Amino acid sequence: MRWVGCQVCDGVVEEPEVPDGGSAVCGRCGALLFRRRRRTVEITFALMVAAAILFAVANAYPFLAFEMQGQVTHTTLGSGVQALWEQGSRAVAGLVLFTTILSPASEILLLLYVLAPLHFGAPAPGAVVAMRWVSRLKPWSMMEVFLIGILVAVVKLADMAEIVPGVALWAFAVLIPILAGAAAFLDTELVWRRLGEPA
Ligand SMILES: [Zn+2]
Repeated sequence: MRWVGCQVCDGVVEEPEVPDGGSAVCGRCGALLFRRRRRTVEITFALMVAAAILFAVANAYPFLAFEMQGQVTHTTLGSGVQALWEQGSRAVAGLVLFTTILSPASEILLLLYVLAPLHFGAPAPGAVVAMRWVSRLKPWSMMEVFLIGILVAVVKLADMAEIVPGVALWAFAVLIPILAGAAAFLDTELVWRRLGEPA
């Protein structure tokens, strides 16, 4: 048996069974206790598939092309990290690698690993551990900060060089709202419940 607290009247009530898409109200004061999102697993899973494709594109294709005195330089996410490393900014290179590549990649893969089997019925082995890591990694995914940094740099460099936005930049620009949408849409409480763990 599970208990939930009412945020309005402070009453503690036995958690009612609520189907997906339904909501539970407090028996004492009638306030909304919680809502179960409809098809949260399916929709978040679909968003994560889109995110995985966009993430692959964002890493495989150039971000920006600079043209300066007839010379064209393409920058990818990886080459940016490499350049930082070679210039001696190793800590920054490591941080960029972790916050813009490793952490979001792990988050997307782990969520796919958790959600895909749930969508088809039974949880995957180790899904509980994977789900814990998803919440641990979340604060470390900072692609949007990186994107803003890129845009600031582009504005500053615009006078010095011809700048052509690359495919990866567009992929990134679409990826960020998709990840934000998935985070907003994922009912973690429901996922934990389906995994058979208390949230
Ligand atoms: Zn209440």
